[in-house]
Amino acid sequence: MTEAPIVDTDVLVLGAGVSGLGFANWWREQRPDERVVVCEADSEVGGYCKTVTKAGFVWDYSGHFFHFKDPAIEAWLRARMPGQEVRTIERVAKIRYAGRDIDFPFQKHIHQLPLDEFLECLTELYFRPHGEPRSFGEMLYQRLGKGITEKFLRPYNEKLYATSLDALDVDAMGRFFPHADIADIIANMRPGHRQHGYNATFTYPAGGAIQYIHALLRDLPPGTVATGEPVTSIDLAARIATTPKRRLRYRRIVSSAPLRALARICNVPHDGSVFTSNQVLVFNLGFDRKGARDVHWMYFPDPALSFYRVGWYDNIFDSDRMSLYVEIGLPDGAHPDVAALRTRVLDDLRREQIITDHQLVAEHSVAMDPAYCHITKASLAETARLKALLAAEDVHSVGRYGGWTYCSIEDNLLETRALATSLARG
Ligand SMILES: Cc1cc2nc3c(=O)[nH]c(=O)nc-3n(C[C@H](O)[C@H](O)[C@H](O)COP(=O)(O)OP(=O)(O)OC[C@H]3O[C@@H](n4cnc5c(N)ncnc54)[C@H](O)[C@@H]3O)c2cc1C
Repeated sequence: MTEAPIVDTDVLVLGAGVSGLGFANWWREQRPDERVVVCEADSEVGGYCKTVTKAGFVWDYSGHFFHFKDPAIEAWLRARMPGQEVRTIERVAKIRYAGRDIDFPFQKHIHQLPLDEFLECLTELYFRPHGEPRSFGEMLYQRLGKGITEKFLRPYNEKLYATSLDALDVDAMGRFFPHADIADIIANMRPGHRQHGYNATFTYPAGGAIQYIHALLRDLPPGTVATGEPVTSIDLAARIATTPKRRLRYRRIVSSAPLRALARICNVPHDGSVFTSNQVLVFNLGFDRKGARDVHWMYFPDPALSFYRVGWYDNIFDSDRMSLYVEIGLPDGAHPDVAALRTRVLDDLRREQIITDHQLVAEHSVAMDPAYCHITKASLAETARLKALLAAEDVHSVGRYGGWTYCSIEDNLLETRALATSLARG
């Protein structure tokens, strides 16, 4: 058998999602003369930022709404999306709690609960246990009290993460957890005073999340990205990566593959058991006519309901047919019966009166696995160890799954921009 040909590249990038393509762009800004090859295992670019269009509906892999903190990043992307309508929307997010719709975040809107439950949440908040929390679950009780935790935060997050909250690190959600102290909560009860949490507005392109990927592809020289070409092994000593089509002799690797997979490909001893996560099964559903108008997404803590969140794409661009994404959290390694869950989802949507006599005219489903990483003390320690060990070999693990973390696409762009700058400085 003849060996696959060797190709030389300065930088080899694993993955053509936001992180991989982001790095390829930032590196070109730093070192325009260097050769960059991006190998993508899937047959299409985008990673989790893919968009599906069917019968006039535009759906992402899951509700992907964008909250940019750095105006330069947003402007950079938008400059590469000519002709694309991008709307900035004041988000309306609700929680369906015992038949009522409470504004999100729950902890800042307990005054919208029935009086007895409001008083229960308020007194439990005041008399909450004090101490140094050892887990995400303990943190909820110690910061927000039993009422708020048991009515919403615990059941909702257990559905989402599909694991015990006591297994997760205190800071498992990082800045995405809407913290609130008593003063915030009471200030928010004043009439006309609304606080929204971490994302008061969001932006969304008419063509879906893939538009950001198209923006990231725009300045890359043709031939930079190879789809359907997984990197299957990396010889760290020889600096040669192998794909089913060729061998790539590299000087440096930037990988957005899940960290445990990268460690395996590099033949580096590691503890893969610490990298657990949930899976998210997403049903995108298009109906013949409009449904609720005044909401962008809604959280469902009720354990009896299959989904933890439902979102309305049609209320972003005021289109006249209801276009939903429905998200279900499942444990690691589960093999869901998708057809049975689809039936349950439609029944549950009817139960919640999200659909009545609507006709389903188009649909799509996708399982995102991994989706939300279970951030634990052990995963944090193993991530830090592996990243440092690989970086010493000039293999840099980035992105949501390369860093086994909770982040947004903007975070992926900021992280890869900072890495490109620091590598260029040597
Ligand atoms: C349910 C859900 C909802 C989300 N909602 C939002 C949101 O509203 N807003 C937001 O900003 N962010 C959101 N995110 C986060 C966002 O999706 C991620 O931050 C982002 O897509 C991660 O990009 P990435 O490039 O790091 O990883 P990925 O998108 O996972 O890309 C990695 C790529 O690497 C490829 N790959 C893996 N192994 C190999 C290999 N060996 N060789 C070659 N290629 C390989 C994969 O095929 C993949 O294409 C959400 C995430 C989830 C799960």
